[in-house]
Amino acid sequence: MVRVEQAVKRFGDLLVLNNVSMTVKRGQVVVIIGPSGSGKTTLLRCINHLEKIDSGYIYVDGQLVGYRLVNGRLVEAREAEIAKMRAQIGFVFQRFNLFAHMTALENIIEAPVHVLGIPRDEAIAQAMELLRKVGLEEKAHVYPHKLSGGQQQRVAIARALAMRPKLMLFDEATSALDPELVGEVLKVMRQLAEEGMTMVVVTHEMGFARDVADHVIFMDHGVIVEEGPPEQIFDTPQNERTRNFLGLIA
Ligand code: ATP
Repeated sequence: MVRVEQAVKRFGDLLVLNNVSMTVKRGQVVVIIGPSGSGKTTLLRCINHLEKIDSGYIYVDGQLVGYRLVNGRLVEAREAEIAKMRAQIGFVFQRFNLFAHMTALENIIEAPVHVLGIPRDEAIAQAMELLRKVGLEEKAHVYPHKLSGGQQQRVAIARALAMRPKLMLFDEATSALDPELVGEVLKVMRQLAEEGMTMVVVTHEMGFARDVADHVIFMDHGVIVEEGPPEQIFDTPQNERTRNFLGLIA
């Protein structure tokens, strides 16, 4: 579903992704861990072309992100094509980014109605189903400022799912939450994983990573230092940097 090949990304002189390669198979949950500033967020943003890599290739569902073939030659994709590709990828941010002037329900139906052209009634029925799924059916007509952070984030997840994405990217989706609200969001993410959603999750929640990930990637200074199944990364990390990181935050 995702293949990153030797991705390099610089911000000025700062090398943020240094030859990163990774794959995510359909239905897999890949969790990316690592210290602050190691390039995790940038990698996610490159996958859906919010950032453009300087060299390397990223494929999502077999398509080269950001490019198209014209007479056998690769040329940069147009904005509309990038938007179309992005519409198939759900992105959940640390900050919930809900539209403040819209109710939970309106937030969820906005893109399906205006981007996918789904009839409003159908979009509402689907949104109510998604609100039920994230445990917020009774909050359909409530505005974001009357919702807790955890509830807002669950609406944000429902909003992403309403676009029927092939892939979900989570960027520290629980980092901005009060500790007592983290569990309810992780529960929804866990449920999605169990349903077979393909997910790439950047998180500091090591319990979640251990339980839910099929594959864990440890990044530091823009490189993948170590990767493998969660038992290997958490119980028998091979690299000293991984051991230090896990030791420090344990
Ligand atoms: P955190 O866990 O703190 O979110 P991270 O591993 O996700 O960290 P990134 O957000 O990818 O790290 O940032 C990697 C490096 O790139 C950091 O040093 C950051 O300051 C820098 N950086 C990120 N975005 C930009 C930008 N738009 N312009 C310049 N530098 C940036």
